[in-house]
Parts: sequence; structure tokens; C-alpha cells
Amino acid sequence: MKAHATPAEIQAIIERVEGAGFQAHRITGVERTVVACVGEERGKDDLAQLEFFSGVESVMPILKPYKLAAREVHPEGSRIKVGNLEIGGKGLAVMAGPCAIESAQQIDRAAQAVKAAGANMLRGGAFKPRTSPYSFQGMEHDGLLLLEKAGREFGLPVVTEVMDPHDIERIVEHADMLQVGARNAQNFSLLRRLGKVNKPILLKRGMSTKLDEFLMAAEYILSGGNSNVVLCERGIRTFETATRNTLDLNAIPMLKQWTHLPIIVDPSHGTGTESLVIPMALAAIAAGADGLMIEVHPEPEKALSDGPQQLRPARFEELMRAVRRVAAAVDRTV
Ligand code: PEP
Ligand code: MN
Repeated sequence: MKAHATPAEIQAIIERVEGAGFQAHRITGVERTVVACVGEERGKDDLAQLEFFSGVESVMPILKPYKLAAREVHPEGSRIKVGNLEIGGKGLAVMAGPCAIESAQQIDRAAQAVKAAGANMLRGGAFKPRTSPYSFQGMEHDGLLLLEKAGREFGLPVVTEVMDPHDIERIVEHADMLQVGARNAQNFSLLRRLGKVNKPILLKRGMSTKLDEFLMAAEYILSGGNSNVVLCERGIRTFETATRNTLDLNAIPMLKQWTHLPIIVDPSHGTGTESLVIPMALAAIAAGADGLMIEVHPEPEKALSDGPQQLRPARFEELMRAVRRVAAAVDRTV
């Protein structure tokens, strides 16, 4: 739409689009509004005439298979609100906390430590996707309540993983953001359900998901009506076995060209090794990431999952000090 299009002009276009059998998604930017039309290829000639309607600046076909995730529909980049935090602006999001919630004392100590060091969100898994069915599976609902309580106490919005569509409702009640893990990155029925949820989603890249497939996964959530999606690069499987995964930092500038969605990086799962987390976190910020997800445990040697990659609080403080310096160099703040 033109920069000064009136609400009535915008509404008239939305009605025309829907009348032509398309879904209309309204995207309100700082300068102008975009009406994204999603539907069958066949009817698209009808949309070309919209160019002659008042308030319309241009009609532009989006050639990419992901329509709502495409950069073109929101050239200035989207900003996603999680509680009072905004992800995708100048300020970096730092989500930190243990791999899994293990006890009230553990999550409280983690929350206190990451808050003191400058994190602005608390993470912790209550439902854990474990390779072995015999490994610790998470504290489930009890863990969720402990996470919520710790987040409130320290003033940090919380993010936690959802694995099963049946758990969505109760997680929505207690968490500020829902995480889709790497193992569910292409669980299309879960993604569809999350399109109907009224909370932001943190979508992790699958370990063998190409970037275009990653954006198609995001498109499932967006097309369901939930426009609040943040992407997370967390490493992919390659022939390299020295590290748990290969953190694909190419993904950041590439995705920045292709999509308006914010992108954060998880160097904890991306490397699997505590000593590699700080250098890769810094590289991620230098490459243009909008934030980080970092696993922090008060006593990593006692962790019930992912001990080798979790930072102790003092190391996390060191990370935050270094991140502030790199952030300043690339004109970002923490
Ligand atoms: C996690 O963040 O807790 C997690 C399980 O990560 P991923 O899905 O990236 O393996
Ligand atoms: Mn983990």
C-alpha cells in the first residue's frame, strides 16, 4: 500500500483479496502496510488489477516458495515481542539457562546467575527430546511451573520446548515463548498447531534441514496466523565428528537476505563443547545474529543432560562481557 493509505483503503483491498479466494495477511510496517495474498497460482492474474485501486502502490509477485517469510513482505525486518523484550531490533536477545529444569534450586540459581550477568530471557527444558528413552526425560509439568516461577522472580520472560501438540495448551499457560526443537523442525502437524497459538515461537533448524526448508517450516506457522516467529540456527550434521554439530554461520547473512524473521544462534548445541561456546557466540553476533541461546548450569558436572556444553555462571559472565564488546562493534546493544 502507499505510505499514506487510509485504513478504509487497506480494508477494501483485504476484502477484494479475500473475495478473489486468497488469504490476506496484513503486515503493518513503520512506513507502509503490506497485504500479502496467499493462495493458488491460478488466480493470481485477478490480483494484478488491484494496482488500479486507490491506496495501492504496487502489486508484486513473490517468487519464493515461502511467501509470508519472504524478506519482500517486510523489508525492514520484523520485530517480535516476548513479554517486554523485542527481538529483531538493535538490542540483542540473550536466552540463557539450563538444558533441562532439574529442581527448584537448580533453576533458581541458574536464573539468578544469568540475570545478574545480563541475560534478558530464561530458558529451560521441561519436556526433553532425548535420543534414548532411558535418559532423563525432563520434569514435565512440574518443571514448567518451576521455570515460570523463576522467570517471574527474576523478571525474565521464559522459553521452553514443546514436543507434543497435546502439551501446547498447558505450556502456553506458563511460558512466554514456545520452542520447537531441532528434532521437530519438520513436524508439520505440530507447526500447524503452533500457527494458531497466541504466543511467539522459537523455531530451531533441524539437523538436516536446508535453509529453504527451514523457511518453509516457518511458513507453516505464519500461514496459520501466528506471525511471531524467531528462527534459531543450532548447528547441522556434517561429516565432521570433532564437534557435536557444525554451527552454520553462513545461515545468518543468507537468511537475513531471504527473510524478515529475526535469527538467533545457539552455540551450545552448535558445538557441544563448553570451550567453544564463547568464540562461536561472538562470531554469531559479528555475523549479524539478533541474539543467542546459551546453556548455563550452576554445576554442569552434575547436569542430567548436556553437561559438556553447559557454561558455569562465571563463564557466562565472561561471555556476556565479550558479547558486549562485539555487539558495540557491529552497532548492537545488550
Ligand atoms: C534445547 O534447546 O533444549 C534442545 C534440545 O536443542 P535442539 O532441539 O537444538 O537439539
Ligand atoms: Mn540441551
